Amino acid sequence: MIDSHAHLYYEKFDEDRDQVVLRAREAGVVRVINIGTDVATSEKSLELAKRYMGFYATVGLHPTTKVVDLLRDIALLETLAKANPDRVVGVGEIGLDYYWKDVAPAAQKESLAAQLDLARRLGLPVVYHCRDALEDLFAFLQQERIQPPGVFHCFSGGPSDAERALALGYHVSFAGNVTYPGAVNLQAALQVVPVEKLLLETDCPFLAPQPVRGKRNEPAHVGHTRDFIAKSKGIDPGELERITEATTVSLFGLS
Ligand SMILES: [Zn+2]
Repeated sequence: MIDSHAHLYYEKFDEDRDQVVLRAREAGVVRVINIGTDVATSEKSLELAKRYMGFYATVGLHPTTKVVDLLRDIALLETLAKANPDRVVGVGEIGLDYYWKDVAPAAQKESLAAQLDLARRLGLPVVYHCRDALEDLFAFLQQERIQPPGVFHCFSGGPSDAERALALGYHVSFAGNVTYPGAVNLQAALQVVPVEKLLLETDCPFLAPQPVRGKRNEPAHVGHTRDFIAKSKGIDPGELERITEATTVSLFGLS
């Protein structure tokens, strides 16, 4: 199994990170992609990829990251990616977030555009974060001449939004919140995404799936989300695991 979206560099894991990694392996999670949200966490993701077998990193500036010097940050991320081609497997998380008001939409779009260019230069897929801004993100992406491949992580829209993401050629990933009883719209979105376009993720430490809801999330918990999705899709969990693993390996070019 692969946890395609984790933030294990957070301080919340400082005291027991080795045990978290051990539990992940015991749960059959053989690969974990840690996702950068700024230059510092992109570096930390890379450090984890160097320390733990089966770990990979993405580099990127989250839409809510306050960027002082965009060109400088992009150059730093590019250097990280080029120096570590086996470990840096994507650009992200990037996108738009209108829920938090810290960064103006115009600045978010400038950062997004620059990072789509970066992904194209590096030949890497992208990881989209989007909150309360799907309409704008779709409109933005439709104007892009060449779209890098990628995934809408922690999908937050309904069925028609999922269809638009798929129509743009993207994969769609659901985090633990798809398992919550009230997540009717998300569950409806899940139904329209073909199994071959799905990825599994925790987005840990956030969004622990229903059986462990409210606790700190970790890669070992991704199995709960796998089981929920498999049941919703009417397929065997092992089969879902096999398909999503192959999809993730192929999308990110994992070894
Ligand atoms: Zn994330």
